[in-house]
Parts: sequence; structure tokens; C-alpha cells
Amino acid sequence: MDHKVGEVREQFKQELNRVKDSKQVEQLKVRFLGKKGPLQMLMTELREVSSDLRPLLGKKLNELKVELEFLCEQALTGYKEAELVRQIETEKIDITLPGRRQFQGRMHPISHLMQEITAILRGMGFTVQYGPDIDTDWYNYEGLNFPPDHPAREMQDTFYIDARRLLRSHTSNTQLRVMEKTTPPIRCIAPGTVYRNENISSRSHVFFHQVEGLYIDRNVSFADLFSTMQEFWNKLLKREIQTRFRPSYFPFVEPGLEVDVQCTQCNGKGCRLCKHSGWLEVCGAGMVHPEVLRNGGIDPEVYAGYAWGMGVERLAMLRYDVNDIRLFAENDLRFLRQF
Ligand SMILES: [Zn+2]
Repeated sequence: MDHKVGEVREQFKQELNRVKDSKQVEQLKVRFLGKKGPLQMLMTELREVSSDLRPLLGKKLNELKVELEFLCEQALTGYKEAELVRQIETEKIDITLPGRRQFQGRMHPISHLMQEITAILRGMGFTVQYGPDIDTDWYNYEGLNFPPDHPAREMQDTFYIDARRLLRSHTSNTQLRVMEKTTPPIRCIAPGTVYRNENISSRSHVFFHQVEGLYIDRNVSFADLFSTMQEFWNKLLKREIQTRFRPSYFPFVEPGLEVDVQCTQCNGKGCRLCKHSGWLEVCGAGMVHPEVLRNGGIDPEVYAGYAWGMGVERLAMLRYDVNDIRLFAENDLRFLRQF
């Protein structure tokens, strides 16, 4: 028995030498001093030892227990200190490092410009109307004076869903819907997304945005269209801007016009933005075709109207001098954060 006490002590010391951290010390302590450990076994064996030897052996066992406990505590303290030092070392914060930049979210430039346009036109008395993105051929084409096989349909390559339905190629699909349910005067705009089956390039995309305006009343003339255009472009470009009107052709207006404004970058002198012409092409316009009024249930003998439409991406490209329309659709944050 005396011999066994020595053995346990030796064995413990050897194992303590191999321990590497505080966790292993804890495990060692449980193994030697726990209920199933060698020390407890010796305590059990002590009951069978003759009574004259028992007090001495009991004392030695107690001394061993105290000694092992002491060694464990000593080792634990040592390791814990070292571990704390290491922890402080590895978790230290370098307060001289620059912080991570937090970017504030903001509106997409196209949404922003559309809201700006909408706000100006609301201020000029126009209400906002929305047409569907998926529509019938009638509202997008036929009712707007594009008969089947009309060559003007080729101007806008269209995504057809089936023989009757398509993705609208312009927000003009809203015109007849408004005419059907409203008695003039009509004074509304239709902002929205439009779709074209085109090759994606720096100048064209399969979807973009338009805002279209429509005004129908008695005695509406070209002069009304001109003055509305002048006021609108002054407000959007935030200055007295010169406008120019050139004849053009769109099936749903008669006559049709292209509206130009004097180049905002060179004031008409000629620069890269205006391709040295001094003018920027900003929208298409015209007097509503009598056939379209009739299709909308409005008598062209009594009423007349004008309409105009503009591509929002095109305006954004001019305003921010962006030369690739794809950038507005790709949502690359490096691009969007510049606005
Ligand atoms: Zn210019």
C-alpha cells in the first residue's frame, strides 16, 4: 500500500509534465482526484488494511491528496496567466486603423429623375396614370393607328407573348385606356417601363423607362404644345432654355415633331455631348391623331389634343454625361454611388 501511494505520486508528476494547457490540467485533476481515480481506490482499499497500519497510511493518503491538489492549482494558475496574456495579445484592437466606410443607401438615378419629371408635371396640372406592362396589340399598336403590317411597327421591335399580347413597347399604351374612362379635359402623364426586342449595346437596351404626357380639351392647338414644352424643359433643366421643333413622324400623332433643346453643356456652341450640333434631341411630340381620339371614344370634331414622350435613360445620359445605357440597368454600386 505504501508502495502504491508512491506510484500514484510518480505517475501524476509524469503526466503533469506532459500537460500543455489549463484544460488538460483540469482533466488530469478529475482523472486522479475524481471518484473513479486512483486516490479514491486507495481510500477504499484502506478499509481492508489492518487497524495498526491504517492511521499512518491514512495520513500518507491525505498528504498525497493535498499535494496533488496543490500541484494542480499551481499548474492552473500558471497556465491561466499565460493564456490571458496570449488572449490579450491576439485580440488587441489597433485603434489607429481607419474605419470601414459605411455607405448610405440612395435612390437609383433613373427613379430619381422620373420622380423629378413627375413632380414638375404634377405642378403643371397633370395627373399620373399607369398602364399595364403586358398589354394587347390593340392598346399598344392598332388603336394608336398602327394597323397590322404597318411599317412603323418595325420602328419598335416588340416582344410578343402570343398573337394578341405583348410587352408594351411604349407607355403610349396608357392613352386609350385614359380616354375610354375620362371625359375631356384630360391632362395626364404615364411613367413606366417599356420593352424592346433589341440587341443590348451602349445605345440600346431591352428595357428602359418613358414618361408620356397627354392633353385633350376643346380648342387645343400647337401653341399649347409649344408653351407646355417650353415650361417643362425650363423647369427640368433649371434655366431658360431654347427649344426647337422639327417635323417628324409617329403614327399616333398628326403632325409629329421632334423636340430639341439647346445643348446644356456648350449652350449651343457645339461640343462632344451634342455631337457639335448645339442641340440635344429630348422628346417626340405631336397633335393626337383624330383616328386615335375616335378609338378612345372622343369626337375629333369637338376635341383636340397633344401628346409627347421622352426616354428617361436618354435624359439621364445627357444630364450626367453617361455614354453607356447599360450602366443604368446593371446596378453596379461603383456606378450608382456616384449619384
Ligand atoms: Zn454641346
